Amino acid sequence: MTNETTYYSACDWCGATIAYGNAMTSVSRQIEQIDRSEAHPDGVVTVIESESVLELCAGCGNRLPVEKLKATLRKSGAAGGMPKGILEALKSFLTENEISFGQRKGGDGFTFTILGENGQWPCLAVRMGDERFGFYSFSPVKTPEAKRAAMAEYLTRANTGLWTGSFEMDFDDGEVHFRTSGAAPGGKLPFELIEPIFYANVSIMDRYLPGILALIYSDTSPEQLIEEIEGEPAATAEGEEEILELREDGDE
Ligand SMILES: [Zn+2]
Repeated sequence: MTNETTYYSACDWCGATIAYGNAMTSVSRQIEQIDRSEAHPDGVVTVIESESVLELCAGCGNRLPVEKLKATLRKSGAAGGMPKGILEALKSFLTENEISFGQRKGGDGFTFTILGENGQWPCLAVRMGDERFGFYSFSPVKTPEAKRAAMAEYLTRANTGLWTGSFEMDFDDGEVHFRTSGAAPGGKLPFELIEPIFYANVSIMDRYLPGILALIYSDTSPEQLIEEIEGEPAATAEGEEEILELREDGDE
């Protein structure tokens, strides 16, 4: 037979020819009706309409990650799902990224730990009111009283020019954190809104954390520390990926 008579289709992943007589895997969307009759008490399926979504050669088909595919479809809402509520969505995001987490006291968020390139720190994913969500990265060390004025200057200098979030300090106990937040209109949080708010949070904390620690443990001025950090190029998207790969299990 010539190529034209044996060719059926091409693999949607690797492009290999699928010929008549080859095994293949197809993922399709079918509209079905299930009826029951005396002859078929367990039901008989009538396919009303069938449309192929993906056609794969045998090799690719064998590697089809069925569970992952299901999860991706459900997550995307492509299976008819609506965006989840804020806490459900945050929980799915952490689970999907294999970050282990604990429930925050009061039940309005989740605690976990991040290991960045410059240190390890506690984080919080949280629902803020009815239509907002956010992430907090906490400095692992509180600022001693004598350093709080200098820390306030350091954080103010760091905040200048930051688009997506803000460093803050509790002047009474010296606790420092970086906060990012985003809108969740109607209390629904589409999955794709979470990632940029999360990455901005952990990458910016990772960038400014060495300065926070140096300010506490040395006599370097806030101005000098900011110059050292901002003189260097910001973490790339690639750097942010690495942070996620390096993350550690939460300890709660
Ligand atoms: Zn293939």
